[in-house]
Amino acid sequence: MNKIVITGGTGLIGSAFKKGKKLGSKDYDLRSTVETNKMFEENNPDVVIHTAAKVGGVGANMQYPANFYYDNIMMNTNIIQSSFEHRVKKLVCFLSTCVFPDKIEYPLTEDKIHQGEPHPSNASYAYAKRMADIQIKAYNKQYETNYFSVIPCNVYGIKDNFNLHNGHVIPTLIHKCWLAKQNNSPFEIWGNGSALREFVFADDMADIVLKLVETYEGTDPIIISNPQEYSIKEVVDIIIKHMEFEGEVKWLLDKPNGQHRKPSSNERLTNIIGQYNFTTLEIGLKNTIDWFKLNYETIRK
Ligand code: NAP
Repeated sequence: MNKIVITGGTGLIGSAFKKGKKLGSKDYDLRSTVETNKMFEENNPDVVIHTAAKVGGVGANMQYPANFYYDNIMMNTNIIQSSFEHRVKKLVCFLSTCVFPDKIEYPLTEDKIHQGEPHPSNASYAYAKRMADIQIKAYNKQYETNYFSVIPCNVYGIKDNFNLHNGHVIPTLIHKCWLAKQNNSPFEIWGNGSALREFVFADDMADIVLKLVETYEGTDPIIISNPQEYSIKEVVDIIIKHMEFEGEVKWLLDKPNGQHRKPSSNERLTNIIGQYNFTTLEIGLKNTIDWFKLNYETIRK
């Protein structure tokens, strides 16, 4: 049986895998070549699912661009080289739809990753991640490995980062609603809620990646996204319901909505694994909010 190692196993996506040995930064600092090699020697994996990364919101990306570049380029470089040196059969690296060019024709497709500059707010993260795609292609060509990357859209779920300034949209809204409820204050949301986004529950993301590990023999990158788009208003309505928030909801109409849509094509994914029965936002958010309430004291926030 294949021995699977999940890097980033303590994070949102890594912790959702139902199989594999989950490793966090306390086990091995993957920015270090020595520690990365130690990880391979001590665990001897056949399959590596590399989710570990330095991830953050716009604020952190703009304040610490050097850290976002260095940490990600080092982790990816070490993991890909060590996978080759240790004869790993399959390596899956996580990119992100936010590494795509800022000015691009939608829907996003896998061939557009390098077709323009990323948004300046996350350029160093985006370029570091894009280099994983380049490195994987180089190794596949020269060494005939069959490594590939996946490109997820927005992911949410338990073990997310609920930091108000540094989190993604769903965990931030959940935390804001919770605080509004505790403080009897209005639940304030930027814009009018009309922007549409694709969200995937972390458990689905992990399940899909395991299906790809079992069935995919190709090397092309694969976008993993939910073709069903949800508006921010729909997200907020579900959060209010499960948080049992009865206070004032204040839409800050002088603040930006963000881009109206950022759709991506999951055609390549569907061609490989067929239509996937995604967890509905209603159920995914209920699970996430139940966990958030139970674990508030200790969550990342
Ligand atoms: P996350 O919750 O922030 O988890 C990051 C993981 O990386 C943690 O397990 C962390 O370990 C580990 N890590 C960080 N620095 C490390 C280091 N120096 N050495 C070893 N491990 C290190 O991130 P996530 O949201 O699960 O994201 C996982 C992957 O999916 C990332 O590659 C990300 O770019 C990609 N992605 C995420 C989303 C999303 O919406 N969340 C969307 C698209 C793509 P510790 O916690 O032990 O420090």
